[in-house]
Amino acid sequence: MVELAPYAVTETNSRGRKIAEAAPHSRSEFQRDRDRIVHSGAFRRLEYKTQVFVNHEGDLFRTRLTHSIEVAQIARSIARRLHLNEDLAEAISLAHDLGHTPFGHAGQDALNACMKAYGGFEHNLQSLRVVDLLEERYAAFDGLNLCFETREGILKHCSADNAAQLGELGERFLHNHRPSLEAQIANLADEIAYNNHDVDDGLRSGLITLDQLATVPLAATHLKEVRDAYPDLPERRVVHETVRSMINTLVSDLIQQSERNIAAQNPATIEDVRSAAAMIAFSPEMNERQRALKSFLHTHLYRHYRVLRMSVKAQRIISDLFGIFMADSRLLPPQFQPPAGQAEQDRARAVADYIAGMTDRYAIREHRRIFAVEEMPVSF
Ligand code: MG
Repeated sequence: MVELAPYAVTETNSRGRKIAEAAPHSRSEFQRDRDRIVHSGAFRRLEYKTQVFVNHEGDLFRTRLTHSIEVAQIARSIARRLHLNEDLAEAISLAHDLGHTPFGHAGQDALNACMKAYGGFEHNLQSLRVVDLLEERYAAFDGLNLCFETREGILKHCSADNAAQLGELGERFLHNHRPSLEAQIANLADEIAYNNHDVDDGLRSGLITLDQLATVPLAATHLKEVRDAYPDLPERRVVHETVRSMINTLVSDLIQQSERNIAAQNPATIEDVRSAAAMIAFSPEMNERQRALKSFLHTHLYRHYRVLRMSVKAQRIISDLFGIFMADSRLLPPQFQPPAGQAEQDRARAVADYIAGMTDRYAIREHRRIFAVEEMPVSF
């Protein structure tokens, strides 16, 4: 096993779990966190939650589950190379999207709009809520009782108002401190993964074309290399080769720039990491190229009329469900029904928890069960 850098998170310098537990026998504390995440109900539901394309549109598109696995793979490679805690980077990556609503960003925006009067909805905070509270699997505690560093990594960003209510975990947002390098890695591995797989899925769906992609500098370089080396390669393989080499280039650049940043800042401990500027970063040139790719995807994929049509439908489903459950909570399944006299604010949060936990298809079915007249039983 590679020896960890002195500024890596370890079991020794970890701030531990909220509720103390006996040390695991055959694995590290962070492996235990990862295992708890993989065994959670929220993790299994990621399989049927959208990234960009609604799950039933095609079997080859990414879902939040395959996305999370890709993020974990990229994060682990980078963490190992930088002598950081690979298990922690993996645990954060696998958990980072647990709080995502159905229907990707459209779903998150719709639920946030519904929750405006009740403190809003943010998928990042919801991921934390899932691991801290909503998973009901253990006898001794609610949630998964994960280590501080795993929770710190899950909470990528958060408003000052929310941070003030989060105790120890919120402090870094109030003091402008950074999380561990492992958390910084998971964050950028997320970006590398989704930009590249959205290119791949976008091309597969036909919503973007290779010719359009050739206008993006990062893609153009790799596309040209592939076409020059293999002039007769079928298009699908050209796409794979291009995406593969874009990921490699981004990962290599990130490792090299981060090594330079770490050498320059020379942290001795994890506390040095927390009080210094972010050290895991792309080079300025690659940052520029990565941003251009992102903005290309915004214009040509996320705002494609066919994606927008799906988003509008998704938003209608979410806001219809939220509206009806707030208007009449008797329609909720028993385990989600509010106790008598519960404050409206808490009722709204419980409804948001229920909706956020839904998979795409569950939300569609639930909407149909409540709103579709043709679903009305003709006899009981
Ligand atoms: Mg993600």
